[in-house]
Amino acid sequence: MDLPWKTIYSQSTGEFDWAGGISSATTDDNDDGSTFSPLAYWSLAGTIGFTLLVYFLEGNLDARQKKSYQITEFPKELETTVAKIDAQQKNDKTDDDDDNNNNKTSKKKNDDDDKKDTIDKDKPLLEQLQAKFKSSQTYGLDKINFGMIAGTYETFESIVILLVGIMPFLWDQSIKLGGTYLGVNSDEEIKISLIFLLLQTIVGTITGLPFELYKTFNIEKKHGFNKQTYGLFFTDKVKGLVLQCVIGGPFVALLLKIIKMGGDNFYIYMWAFMFCFSVFMMTIVPVVIMPIFNTYEPLKDGDLKTSIYKLAGRLDYPLKKLFIMDGSKRSSHSNAFMFGFGANKRIVLFDTLMEQVKSSEILAILGHELGHWKLGHTLTNFAVTQVYFGVAFYFFSQCYASKDLYAAFGFDDTKSDVPTIIALMLFFQTLWAPVDKILSFVLTVFSRHCEFEADRFSVDLDMSQDLQSGLCKIHLENLGAMCPDNLYSMYHYSHPPLVERLSAMMALDDAMMLKGKKKN
Ligand SMILES: [Zn+2]
Repeated sequence: MDLPWKTIYSQSTGEFDWAGGISSATTDDNDDGSTFSPLAYWSLAGTIGFTLLVYFLEGNLDARQKKSYQITEFPKELETTVAKIDAQQKNDKTDDDDDNNNNKTSKKKNDDDDKKDTIDKDKPLLEQLQAKFKSSQTYGLDKINFGMIAGTYETFESIVILLVGIMPFLWDQSIKLGGTYLGVNSDEEIKISLIFLLLQTIVGTITGLPFELYKTFNIEKKHGFNKQTYGLFFTDKVKGLVLQCVIGGPFVALLLKIIKMGGDNFYIYMWAFMFCFSVFMMTIVPVVIMPIFNTYEPLKDGDLKTSIYKLAGRLDYPLKKLFIMDGSKRSSHSNAFMFGFGANKRIVLFDTLMEQVKSSEILAILGHELGHWKLGHTLTNFAVTQVYFGVAFYFFSQCYASKDLYAAFGFDDTKSDVPTIIALMLFFQTLWAPVDKILSFVLTVFSRHCEFEADRFSVDLDMSQDLQSGLCKIHLENLGAMCPDNLYSMYHYSHPPLVERLSAMMALDDAMMLKGKKKN
């Protein structure tokens, strides 16, 4: 029987058939006389087709976003919205003197080569946004141009990998390497799987490196965000790789063992293992792994600390520790996050955030973050991920045995079983890929919904003004898109565009005012 396409390297021959190439495509000598199912028959062509489809659709969105970055006029809607915030702030100017606690530290940090000027925290926001509009547009443009080139390369690379048969080739090399240097037998599948993954990680790191370097040391640097040295960049890389081996290695080994020993219903054990591993990671990442990359210092006593604890107390949030993280070591992008199980919660503020916004705005941003917790978003996300794994593993268990599916990708050696790790990887790359795309879109939509809800939570805490101005400042500092394309943002953005969030909060403010008036 002829396959529409056949990989250039295949396990049955053990060599690259460049002359016969992709078009010759005959595999009529299936030893056991089996025929390929239609699904398996089309799987290589289908996978490449789907990869190209995604590439063209996403490329189209990129092109739309690129156009929006070429707009030279400040967006009207944002102008009217931010003008309203400024008008509000002028009115409440009186109780404002307790907020200058970070101004001094920000001067000190700004001695290196970044071109970004310190923010005057009391200047009208609209003026500042308008002043930064052009920089934000060029930053966006640089990023999207880079993204389009990197995306094209990645698509090209993944198609070449499939057609040439790099996966079966690497697998066979892993057997050889293991046999020659480590005394691993060719039937010790788990050990060979680990060698295979190591080879793949090395190849992936090398091919991805030029792009990462360009992004960090050209684009981010050009726009004043990058604070990393080459030394730090490569130390991070090495640390990451070591962690991957130390944690990823045993994880994969155990997972494969469970699949092998689990019998017909192995997906249940697989899922249970994944659940335990997720919980394990959530526990060790903040305490063990994050400190490997950054320094966490407890927030110094003072007004901000007192008010954060007060806010946590008001919401029954069991805040145990409050940290400042040296995010400025790598980048001047800013953030805040919270983590921890049960009654042992921590909040982390980036030192960059502390420099960029006022204390009252930090509180409002934390009000939003705590909203995510109070409204159960964190837990929902965890639950959704677990269900996702359950369903994916079930379908994987249904396809696991259908050997001829993998033959299309060059794993056509009928004398031996398809390695489990290969089955798993090919399943997620082929049959499951469309499901994955759709699901991640649904999750993005859900995430934006949660952002609106958390904003509303902060508004209900009476922090609307500060959240609005705080968000504007973060947006400003991060040179966020000011007029993103609607389809692009709908597909990619986990957070709604700034103007939408501001408008939603203002609508809530207005509704509250109306209610208040009625009461009076
Ligand atoms: Zn949020």
